[in-house]
Amino acid sequence: MQTRFQYRYRTEERTVSLPVADYVARFRDAERFEACCRACPAYGRSWACPPFDSDMEACLSGYETALLVAVKIFPEESSLPLGESLRLIRPERMRHERQLLMLERRHGGRAFAYAGTCLHCPEGTCTRPSGMACRHPELVRPSLEACGFDLGRTVSELFGFELLWSRNGLIPQYLTLVSGFFHNAGSVEWDTAGEVQE
Ligand code: SF4
Repeated sequence: MQTRFQYRYRTEERTVSLPVADYVARFRDAERFEACCRACPAYGRSWACPPFDSDMEACLSGYETALLVAVKIFPEESSLPLGESLRLIRPERMRHERQLLMLERRHGGRAFAYAGTCLHCPEGTCTRPSGMACRHPELVRPSLEACGFDLGRTVSELFGFELLWSRNGLIPQYLTLVSGFFHNAGSVEWDTAGEVQE
């Protein structure tokens, strides 16, 4: 899928590592966030969204360490309409998804990408509503929110800043993407400057 242009922006990126068991105990409320997902029109209509076939508790309990990544995206232009959010964040989202999948290939583990519209097929063409298999299961990963994690508290308590929300239909000072990589590889490096080389 092509976009005609990209907005200019700068980023601030941070990472946090903690035991998966701690992150689950302190920040996961599966029932509450499942209810939020059910209220979304995308629920059950994209393979990137719940409900998931896999046993999420069993999946999470198979990993020792959660590497969490938060990137703040500051648009250069002020007063951008909220409807431009997806265009603004798309390059960072693609960069994060590439790095997360590279970490899976390099270390095993499980990536959790950013919530929202799946980027890997043209808009409105996901196969899930027609009961067909995902076209790109090797690329699609669930978000942390969809797996029951509270990202508002994750950001404020683990990263030390707040998520900002739109006012008057405009993009706030910055938007935030949070993703994760759960693994048993000991220490894993995240390249905050750009691409991690294969
Ligand atoms: S890759 Fe395509 S088929 Fe799979 S979840 Fe994304 S939009 Fe749906």
